[in-house]
Amino acid sequence: MTAETVPMRPAVEAPAADARFEEIVEVLDPTFLEMLGWCWQRRVITFPRVHPVIGLPDCPVPNCPLAITVFTHPMCRGCMERWSKTDLPLEEFRIIPKAFSTGVGQLPCTVAQCERPRDTPAAMLCATHRLQRTQMLGGIGLEEFLAHPKAVGLAGFGPCRIAACYLDRVGSKYPYCKTHTQRLRVVREEAGFDEARWR
Ligand SMILES: [Zn+2]
Ligand SMILES: [Zn+2]
Ligand SMILES: [Zn+2]
Repeated sequence: MTAETVPMRPAVEAPAADARFEEIVEVLDPTFLEMLGWCWQRRVITFPRVHPVIGLPDCPVPNCPLAITVFTHPMCRGCMERWSKTDLPLEEFRIIPKAFSTGVGQLPCTVAQCERPRDTPAAMLCATHRLQRTQMLGGIGLEEFLAHPKAVGLAGFGPCRIAACYLDRVGSKYPYCKTHTQRLRVVREEAGFDEARWR
């Protein structure tokens, strides 16, 4: 492999004067990291679906975008959990389409050019647009709202500040995704809570 074909590593925020960290980063194989779907900014791996060794097979349930991560399971973890709460035989359960997915990060708000994530997977709108539709515009229908002149795309808030989170921030008050904002509200009540360390 020539130097030109090796993907470039972006500048990494290294702990100050951590020689060992630098040493480790220097010997990482960028091509391997790219194959793993490693993201330097978010510090998250997204395993490839198609790969002879580390590829993950798709969950067979219709509408389920997840992969089977436990080799011996017939479905993804979420569908296994949903199945365990039913009395249905596996063959019957696995042909019922999933209503919507809650497991693949965030989906974008459906307002044109809105960069914010949906408030919930079923909501179709970011928190701001959801509030605008239900409260300021008196709860008009989604179609009508999307065509409304006041429904304009909003700039996103950027990625969640947690060390290895692949989600986007949901508001300007806290630099976190919805899950980590909710978690923060709980853990900050603990004595001696250190937000920088928790992050
Ligand atoms: Zn599934
Ligand atoms: Zn929006
Ligand atoms: Zn997060």
